[in-house]
Amino acid sequence: MNIASLTIEQVQAGLAARQFSAVELAKSALEFAQAENPKTNAYLHFCPERALAAAERVDQKLAAGENAGPLAGVPLAVKDVIVTKGVRTTCGSRLLERYVPPYDATAVVRLEQAGAVILGKTNCDEFAMGSSNENSAFGPVRNPVALDRVPGGSSGGSAAAVAQGTAVVALGSDTGGSVRQPASFCGVVGVTPTYGRVSRYGLVAFASSLDHIGPFGRTVRDAALLLETMAGRDECDSTSAFAPVPSYTAQLDGTVAGLRLGLPREYFEGLASESGDRIHQAVELLKNLGCEVREISLPATQYAVPCYYIIATAEASSNLARYDGVRYTTRANSTRANEDTLSGMYRATRGEGFGAECKRRIMLGTYVLSHGYYDAYYLKAQKVRTLIAEDFHKAFAEVDAIVAPVSPFPAFKIGEKLDDPMEMYLSDIYTITGDLAGIPCMSVPCGKTSEGLPVGMQILAKHFDEAGMFRLADAFEKAGGFAGSN
Ligand code: GLN
Repeated sequence: MNIASLTIEQVQAGLAARQFSAVELAKSALEFAQAENPKTNAYLHFCPERALAAAERVDQKLAAGENAGPLAGVPLAVKDVIVTKGVRTTCGSRLLERYVPPYDATAVVRLEQAGAVILGKTNCDEFAMGSSNENSAFGPVRNPVALDRVPGGSSGGSAAAVAQGTAVVALGSDTGGSVRQPASFCGVVGVTPTYGRVSRYGLVAFASSLDHIGPFGRTVRDAALLLETMAGRDECDSTSAFAPVPSYTAQLDGTVAGLRLGLPREYFEGLASESGDRIHQAVELLKNLGCEVREISLPATQYAVPCYYIIATAEASSNLARYDGVRYTTRANSTRANEDTLSGMYRATRGEGFGAECKRRIMLGTYVLSHGYYDAYYLKAQKVRTLIAEDFHKAFAEVDAIVAPVSPFPAFKIGEKLDDPMEMYLSDIYTITGDLAGIPCMSVPCGKTSEGLPVGMQILAKHFDEAGMFRLADAFEKAGGFAGSN
C-alpha cells in the first residue's frame, strides 16, 4: 500500500481484501502525515485518539459483516474553521488558539457516520481570509509541489495535505475561491457546491451568504463521493437546501459528447500566458470528447472583485464581533490603566488577537455598513451581485456548463504578494463570481507550466447541477490522464 497516492476506491478494495484493517491504515496514515508535516506545515494538529476510535468502529462493523459505509476507513483532513467536538478549532487565529468546540459540524458528523477517519485539522488563513495561507497565525503552509511557493488559500493546508498524500481527501471552505484556488495551485481536485448544498452548521462564519464547505480529492470521483455523502438538508442550517442529493458517482459515465460549453471572454484578460496555454489545450481536449465550445460574455465580471470585498467584509465585520474576549476567546491581560474598562478589555483582546488582514476587513466592513455609506457601497454591491448572478443565468440558457481558468497565475513565491493586499485580492478574480452567484464550480487539474507548477481548469454549472459538472470533470480527467497528476 502506498499511502501517499491512495484513492477511496483503493482503500475500499484494500479493506475488502483484508490487505489492511482500518486501524492499521489509520496508524500508518497518522505516522506518515506526522513525519511529512514539518515540510509543509499543512496540519495544525492531529487527533490520533479520535482517528483510532473511528477506525476501530469501522473494523468492528466489517468483522460483524455489516456495511461500514461508503467512506469506511478513509483518512480525512478537516480545515481548522470547521468545528470538531473535543478537538481544538483555531481558525488559524491566536484568538481561538485554545478553543475546543462542544459540538461537531454537520458535515463532519455525516462523513464520520459514513466511516471516514479524521486525522487532524489543517492550517488556513486566519478566519479563511486570504489567498496564500500566509495570513495564518501559525505560520504559512508550503506548497508540496514547490516548497518555496504558497499552496494558495485560504484552504491551503487541506489542498497541500491531499497533494502531499498525508490525507486521501479533505474538507475546505470557499467564500471567494478558497477551495478552487488552492486546488489549482497544488494540482488536486477542489469543489465549491451550490450555496446551501452542504450545511454550514459548524463552519465558523466568515461571510455567511458566501460561505460553502467543499471537498478536495486526488480524483474527481473521490471529491464527488465526499460531496454526496455530506450534502443535503440539515435542520440546523436554515439556508441548507431541501433539494434531493443524487448519487454523483453513479453518474460518472463519460457521456459528454454534444455538451455545449461556454468560454467567458472576460476570464482571459490578465491571464498568465502559460496558464492560458493549458486552458486552451484543455478546451481542445474537450472538443475532442465531442463537446461544442463557444465564446460567451459575462460582462459584470469587471465589478466582481470590489463587489465581493464589500459584501464579504461587511458580513465579516458583523460575524467577527463575537470574538471579544468574553465568549470563546483568549482574553488579553492588559495591565495598562487606561484599558482597565470593559471596552478597554475588548480593544486589547481584539487588538492583540486578530492579525492585520482580519483588522483590515473588520474596519472596511464596518465602514461600508455605516450610516451614510451603506447605500453608496453595501446596497450598490448587492445590486451588482444580482447582475453577476443574472449574467450566469443568461449564459446557462445557451450553454450547459462554463469552462474557465481558476487563477490568473500559478502558485507564487512565499512573500511575493504580501506587501500588496490589492494584488492578493486580484488572485480571486475568476473564482469569486461563482460564490456571488451561488452556483456549483470546481477546479480540476489540466497540466503544468514549464516550471512544473500545476494549473487548474474551472468548471461552473447551473444551480444544483453538480452531477453534470462532475460528469464533465471526470471525463476530462480521464481523457487527459490528470488523476493524481500533482
Ligand atoms: N481569497 C478570498 C478572500 O480572501 C477568498 C477567501 C475564501 O474563499 N475563504 O476573501
